[in-house]
Amino acid sequence: MIDLLIKNANIWVARGKKASSLAIDQGVVVALDNPQLEAREVLDLGGKSVFPGWNDAHVHVWKVGHLRTTMLDLREATSLEEVYALVAARAKTLEPGQWLLGRGWNEAKIGGSPTKTALDAVAPLNPVVLTRTCAHIHAANSRALQLASIDQKTIPPHGGEIHLEQGLVFETAHGLLLKAMPAFSVQDYKMFVLAGLKWLAAHGITSCTDPAVDPVLLEAYRQLEAEKALPIRVNVLFIRRPDGGLETYPLPEKFVSSFLRVDSVKFFADGGLSGATAAVSIPYQNTDFPSQGVLRFETKELYQLALEAHQAGFRIGTHAIGDRALDQILEVYQRLASSNTTQIRHRIEHFGLANASHLQKARELGVIVVPQPIFLHELAGNFAKYLPKEFVPHCYNLRAMFDAGLTTVFSSDAPVVREVNPLVGIHAATLEPFQAGHQVTLEESIAAFTVGGAIASGDVNNRGTLEVGMFADFTVYDGTQKPVLDWQLLETRVAGDKL
Ligand SMILES: [Zn+2]
Repeated sequence: MIDLLIKNANIWVARGKKASSLAIDQGVVVALDNPQLEAREVLDLGGKSVFPGWNDAHVHVWKVGHLRTTMLDLREATSLEEVYALVAARAKTLEPGQWLLGRGWNEAKIGGSPTKTALDAVAPLNPVVLTRTCAHIHAANSRALQLASIDQKTIPPHGGEIHLEQGLVFETAHGLLLKAMPAFSVQDYKMFVLAGLKWLAAHGITSCTDPAVDPVLLEAYRQLEAEKALPIRVNVLFIRRPDGGLETYPLPEKFVSSFLRVDSVKFFADGGLSGATAAVSIPYQNTDFPSQGVLRFETKELYQLALEAHQAGFRIGTHAIGDRALDQILEVYQRLASSNTTQIRHRIEHFGLANASHLQKARELGVIVVPQPIFLHELAGNFAKYLPKEFVPHCYNLRAMFDAGLTTVFSSDAPVVREVNPLVGIHAATLEPFQAGHQVTLEESIAAFTVGGAIASGDVNNRGTLEVGMFADFTVYDGTQKPVLDWQLLETRVAGDKL
């Protein structure tokens, strides 16, 4: 007698492979198309659809949870006045001196960046830091800048900038603010992580990658894993160089269980595209001052840090968006590939402005690329504003990535965007390309959001499809004969257990 039999269903087993029944025992798939098996629980789905659980290969879990708990969420704001009103209201609930942290503003949507003077006026007694939706730019008030000892004499760290008049802090300079804030404890992180994972699970996501995990956050994940409290499966990219820090965290202890994987590291090569800080070869247009973005590392140093991780057998995921950053990281990966015989497939997160030579080089090196189709849905306005026309044909051109034969893996990068729902990402990938003709198919998108993430996290033998032997992680939707945004999620299971 097996645990669970699903029958009369339209089951996506893997790309190009369907079944109508699925047998599950002890958390794994044990048979396909064998509806005669006796089971303790039988789900007759009457033609409804079953998919492998979604895998969001790049989602800042604890930050999603932070915004769902204690951080002020600015993502719905449509004007600066609204942002200031939200800050004023939150300040009233805080003790004098308590930090007021918010996130989610987008100057293209609210009509400019928040200013120091205005934030001083609405929250005179609290240090305020409002992080832009991309997390690469931060608006601070005077009190926050004072506590961080940022003044005219401050020299920003490498890869960072400070615009004191406006109170804007860019890229690595954010580290100066972070050092002045009370640090989060393991307990804080556990609360954020659980809130984040529950939110992902509510959208049918059964596996995810948290792409920037420091030692304290890692400890939170390890404790949650030991307590068997992780509701879905997590892969972490351990960060080696904290924002604004010059120190390098030592490589973490590797750890792999069915719910937690710690065998990858993360680097940031540049900034973001929606805020015009990604490193590009042609200056952005419509910015306040001429800019070609920021490279976070000297190539030599990035190579040294990457080599150490590579030789220790860690997979590397590098944030790289602009063409200068892609040149840099592909050069680094090329050198790693020729340094020894270790056959590790490294990742490039975002891969936003890849041109033909980047695509080809990534293909040759077996690099896994992790773009975010949802950016096309939520951030296309920013891209259109800042991108010089030369880059338009390359902007998150998903079609070109698939056509180049790359392992292309989808993700949300939430809370950079509001939506974690993979269906919105799939909608964008199939219907909202930055340029006509760059859309991909539904089949490609579903694969990129299931087996893609499994490959990117190095666990394709256990998840990503519903073949026999795989984890019984799946979703049930009411039907797929309608636009993807209308599909209703009815049920999500991890290891056969209902969430
Ligand atoms: Zn990210």
